[in-house]
Amino acid sequence: MANTNQNPENCNGACDTCGTDCPSRNGGTPNFRIEPHKRSSIKKMIGIVSGKGGVGKSFVTSALAVEMARRGYRVGVLDGDITGPSMGKVFGVKQKAMGDGELMYPAKTKLGIQVVTANMLLESDDQPIIWRGPMVAGILKQFYQEVFWDRVDYMFVDMPPGTGDVPLTAFQSFPLDGIVVVTSPQDLVSMVVEKAINMAQMMNIRVLGLVENMSYVECPDCGKKMYVFGNSHIEEVAEKFGLDVLARIPLDEKNAVLSDEGAIEDLTVEPLKKAADFIETL
Ligand code: ADP
Repeated sequence: MANTNQNPENCNGACDTCGTDCPSRNGGTPNFRIEPHKRSSIKKMIGIVSGKGGVGKSFVTSALAVEMARRGYRVGVLDGDITGPSMGKVFGVKQKAMGDGELMYPAKTKLGIQVVTANMLLESDDQPIIWRGPMVAGILKQFYQEVFWDRVDYMFVDMPPGTGDVPLTAFQSFPLDGIVVVTSPQDLVSMVVEKAINMAQMMNIRVLGLVENMSYVECPDCGKKMYVFGNSHIEEVAEKFGLDVLARIPLDEKNAVLSDEGAIEDLTVEPLKKAADFIETL
C-alpha cells in the first residue's frame, strides 16, 4: 500500500512510497520535537538516563533537582518513568492531578519544585499502570505539552528506562539540552551504559557526563572508602567516549532512607554539587 503519510511521527521508513519532504529522505533525522504549551516556559531540559534499573537514576534526578532549587532556580521534575514512577514517593507528593480544563498543574514540593508523575493520575499508589506502549508514550508527551510548567529554569526528566519504544519517544520528542548518564560499578562491566551513551549519540543528544552511583561505601569510623562492587571502570568508559565524570556518589544508608521517606529535600548529596556547577554553565 502506498504510504501517504504526511505526519513524520507515523513514519514507517518507506521513503520510496511517501511524498513527504522530510529530512530522513536526505539522510537526516526527522524532527519529532514537541513544544511546551504557550503558557509554559522551560529554559533548560536535562534527561537523566541509565542503562538498567536500580542504579539510582531516580535518586540522582531528584537530588539534582533539589540542589538546583537550593541554588535559587525554578525547577521542574518530569517523571518519565510512567510505568514505574517514583518521583511522587521521593518528594513525598501525595497530590492528585488537578487542572483547569486546558492544562494539568504540577504538584509543588516544600522547596517549590514542580513535579509531574504518573502517580498523580492514579487513585492509589499501589495501582499498577498496565498500558500499552503507545499510551505510555502519549502520556509522556502530554506531561510536557499539556502541563502548566511555570517559568522553569531547569527541568529534570527521569527518563524511561531501556532503549525501547517509550525511551525512543522521549529522546525524539523532548528538546533535551543534554543527558546525564547514571551508572553503578556493576553496570559498567555489563556494557549497558555504553548502549545508553551510543543511543543518545545516535540521536544527536549531548551527553553532559557520567555519574557513578553506589560507587563505594565509606567506613563511618575511619572514613576509608571500600569498593564493595569491585574496581570502578568509570574513568575508562569516560575516556573511551570523551566524557567527564560529573560525580561519584557513595552507597549510603541515609540516601535510601530519606528517599524512601519522601524526604529527599532534607538530603544534601555533596558529590552532586560538581554536577550542578556544570549544569549551571549550560
Ligand atoms: P532507578 O531509578 O535507577 O531504578 P532508584 O533511584 O529508584 O533507581 O534507586 C533504587 C534504590 O536504591 C532506591 O531505594 C534508592 O533510594 C536507593 N539508592 C539509590 N542511590 C543510593 C545511594 N547512593 N545510597 C543508598 N541508596 C541508594
